[in-house]
Amino acid sequence: MNVWTGERKIKYESELDPTFGKRIAELYGGENLHQCIQCGTCSSTCPLTIYMDFTPRRLVAMTREGFRDEVLQSKTIWLCASCYSCTVDCPKKIKITELMYAFKQMAIDEGVYPKRFATPVMAHEFFKIVRRWGRSNEGILITLMFLKTNPFKLLKQALLGWNLLRRGRMGLKIESIKRRNELKPILDAVEKA
Ligand code: SF4
Ligand code: SF4
Repeated sequence: MNVWTGERKIKYESELDPTFGKRIAELYGGENLHQCIQCGTCSSTCPLTIYMDFTPRRLVAMTREGFRDEVLQSKTIWLCASCYSCTVDCPKKIKITELMYAFKQMAIDEGVYPKRFATPVMAHEFFKIVRRWGRSNEGILITLMFLKTNPFKLLKQALLGWNLLRRGRMGLKIESIKRRNELKPILDAVEKA
């Protein structure tokens, strides 16, 4: 994981998306987006700031200014642990955690999430597994996550996987629910929403 080094690429105004901030402000959580005073409370209270490529304060500023691509492709939105510290402490009552959810959803919808970054890959594969069998299968999920992010890590984790299998903490049997066909329309509706 890279710690932000301070490097930035200059961007011209014509490359920005002037509608982005307005669209985000219309979503749940973004109502007060334009009232942000850039105080930095969110960044200082966030336990994961040091690992993020953009701090929460910066992400809010970039959203307002239309840096759509940078926001949606950032690792920050996938590192957010939904602890709600920033939301609770923001003096302008900006629901930053909800914005992170919205960004994640947009990034998946538009296929611009970091393709080899574990969190979005896991979220994506989890949804696909639940859609198919009606419940999560940890063994398959972990295997797919490593194969799609870092196959070498799969080899490193082989011993741990074997020990989990031996102790019955993880199984190879695929578990599924009855009447899976009834679940599909529900998940389709959730995805559409
Ligand atoms: S805490 Fe709220 S007002 Fe302060 S920088 Fe963060 S989002 Fe803006
Ligand atoms: S909700 Fe996310 S962005 Fe906000 S403080 Fe927690 S980890 Fe940081």
